[in-house]
Amino acid sequence: MKNVFEKMVDYDHEQVLFCHDKASGLRAIIAIHNSTLGPAAGGVRIWPYESEEEALVDVLRLSKGMTYKTAALGANIGGGKSVIIADPKEKTEEMLRAFGRYINSLGGRYYTAEDVGASPQDLLILREETPFVLGMPHISGDSSPVTAAGVFSGMKASAEHLWGSADFNGKKVAVQGAGGVGFGLVELLIEAGAKVYVSDIAEERVKKAVELGAIAVSTDEIYDVDADIFAPCALGGIINDDTIARLKVEIVCGGANNQLLEHRHGEVLAEKGILYAPDFVVNGGGMLNGTDEIGPGGYNRVRAMAKVKRIYDIALEMFDIAQTRNILPFEAAEIFAEERIEKALRQKRIFLAR
Ligand code: NAD
Repeated sequence: MKNVFEKMVDYDHEQVLFCHDKASGLRAIIAIHNSTLGPAAGGVRIWPYESEEEALVDVLRLSKGMTYKTAALGANIGGGKSVIIADPKEKTEEMLRAFGRYINSLGGRYYTAEDVGASPQDLLILREETPFVLGMPHISGDSSPVTAAGVFSGMKASAEHLWGSADFNGKKVAVQGAGGVGFGLVELLIEAGAKVYVSDIAEERVKKAVELGAIAVSTDEIYDVDADIFAPCALGGIINDDTIARLKVEIVCGGANNQLLEHRHGEVLAEKGILYAPDFVVNGGGMLNGTDEIGPGGYNRVRAMAKVKRIYDIALEMFDIAQTRNILPFEAAEIFAEERIEKALRQKRIFLAR
């Protein structure tokens, strides 16, 4: 098994902070992947990891993903993430407060936000211990509808690129997961005249979507739907050998993080003639909205939404770069993000007083 430094080298991390608080039982890891473009930002995941190893790999992987997301979307924000090793049902105020103090100790190098297992109420507790919390309920608010709007922009760009039209009237879209992001997307698609198929393990969520006009399908059948677009809005890793063999769509574009099980599955999709919209580009709306809280003058809804709208142009640009360079769109987005960071590093070679 590799040690921590070896893993940091593998993932190319700047800093990893292990946090332990005896009184509250807090065990947490904060990972700052890259802060070239600005302070690192990324949510806190509260999860009962089976091992320290699993928690560490997850936080390293997720924080690296944030670096690519912020860089590709033009945000002056670095990539970070944190995990608290605990069952969300067993989290306590003391634990969160201790965690908030650890975030504070980083002096603004890392901003946290909501992720799996954390709630808006948790952010309010953290905010009492540190100002370095984003996506506050009373400021930028729930990120899910904004993420859904960004995914829809990415979907329109995909349709424009592939079919020469972003008209969704009569288009068939299969949405996997009708949670915060998936439900928001279903609303937008139905409004745009699309025929929407939806699956979720939670029956009440499917019911809500059906009330809007969506058609319910089982969690297994969602891959077989004869649709134009597949929108993964539940789990990561769901684009794999098994599912690709079943998909009948021309586009995959959804909100879930890390949709490709392995890098090569992006290539397998392309071989089957399916256009894959890079997940970290199209699902960045929530990040753009939340990080606007540290923009000049504080949160500005109009400015934040203007940034989210740009996901359409950025996705189109990635498709164009991919075509010109004969690479895949997700590779184009990765290279674009890396080049932006490289450029910022070169500019930092000279010292300019603030
Ligand atoms: P959520 O928990 O509100 O919704 C997820 C939904 O997926 C739930 O309704 C759940 O029941 C359902 N689900 C779980 N397993 C399923 C399965 N096998 N088949 C069908 N449905 C299943 O989460 P969310 O905030 O909507 O996030 C959805 C995805 O988008 C996640 O991968 C998340 O990491 C990603 N994401 C979310 C945001 C955001 O702003 N919320 C931003 C970026 C990325």
